[in-house]
Amino acid sequence: MTQKRVYNFSAGPSTLPVPVLEKVAAQMLNYKDSGMSVMEMSHRSSSYLEIFNETKALLKKVLNIPDNYKILFIQGGATQQFSTIPLNLLKNGKADYIITGAFSKKAAQEAKKFGDIHIAYDGSVNNFKHIPTQDELDLREDASYVHLCANNTIYGTEWKYVPDTKGVPIVADMSSNILSKPIRVADYGMIYAGAQKNMGIAGLGVVIVREDLIQDHKENIPVLMEYNTIADNDSMYNTPPTFSIYVLGLVLEWIDSLGGLEVMQKKNQEKAQLLYDYLDQTDFYQTHSDADNRSIMNVTFTCPNKDLDAKFVKESIAAGMSNLKGHRSVGGIRASIYNAMSLEGVETLLAFMKKFEEENK
Ligand code: PLP
Repeated sequence: MTQKRVYNFSAGPSTLPVPVLEKVAAQMLNYKDSGMSVMEMSHRSSSYLEIFNETKALLKKVLNIPDNYKILFIQGGATQQFSTIPLNLLKNGKADYIITGAFSKKAAQEAKKFGDIHIAYDGSVNNFKHIPTQDELDLREDASYVHLCANNTIYGTEWKYVPDTKGVPIVADMSSNILSKPIRVADYGMIYAGAQKNMGIAGLGVVIVREDLIQDHKENIPVLMEYNTIADNDSMYNTPPTFSIYVLGLVLEWIDSLGGLEVMQKKNQEKAQLLYDYLDQTDFYQTHSDADNRSIMNVTFTCPNKDLDAKFVKESIAAGMSNLKGHRSVGGIRASIYNAMSLEGVETLLAFMKKFEEENK
């Protein structure tokens, strides 16, 4: 790349691995001697089907997805799943939702249109700085599923354990931490994510769902929202988001070439620890989340006052960093340090934080 890139701390769409961008650029006009860009290919052509099948196989490999799970590639992002999940999975009309942030709240609000939704925990009282312990959950044993959000992008909290739901399938929104660490897919009935953070670019929703949960054919729901139809047609009932799936394949190749999710987790922990260790030893900055629940993807903190928050953001841009402004509901600073954020990027931020503190305390 000839132009200098900024360190992009955006929460999403977010920074991509440079080797992925370089490959996209190199293949843009002529993908592997096909004479065309991936964007221009029929989704039913052999060239494209190869990309599609390789991407699916790589996702299965990297996430170690058992054979009894279907992988669905769906147009639209995670929010669309907020509606699709209750339409498909509310078998007896009842589901439990654990609210740990803005997105799980939205998911619950949407589900309420379709059935008896019980809120098993609501973290809004302490502005979502906490992830509930097992004892804090009020779960129903006859729910069709329990919904949770594995990483709360806005607040910077992350689940560090899988709750015991007494056999009720867990449906997890992993939009902002999928592929950041190994997980046991079998602990979940369904996992879903919008692709635009650790999975590439916007336009694609990825669903990984246990086969037995989607066996019944649903009559009265829109055809493109029925998991069974999407699975039966291998995500090609209609045109899938072809380019986003191609980029996901390149991202997975990159993760695989580095050694997979154990390596990814080690790198992510190292980056997050650098920031949290410093945040813990200074009184100048305050972290938002409880120490035990800190996300390794989204690090949220505040300066001593709002004026300094604004000054921090302004000066960070001049120092070659972008998108550090916190979400309006938390304020302060949010550094999203997904897989593609380099250690060098985090070290640059850390040096800037130290200098800013020195100059403004
Ligand atoms: N869930 C989480 C955890 C998110 O971070 C986001 C968005 O960034 C969403 C859901 C909404 O995703 P989308 O914009 O793809 O609908």
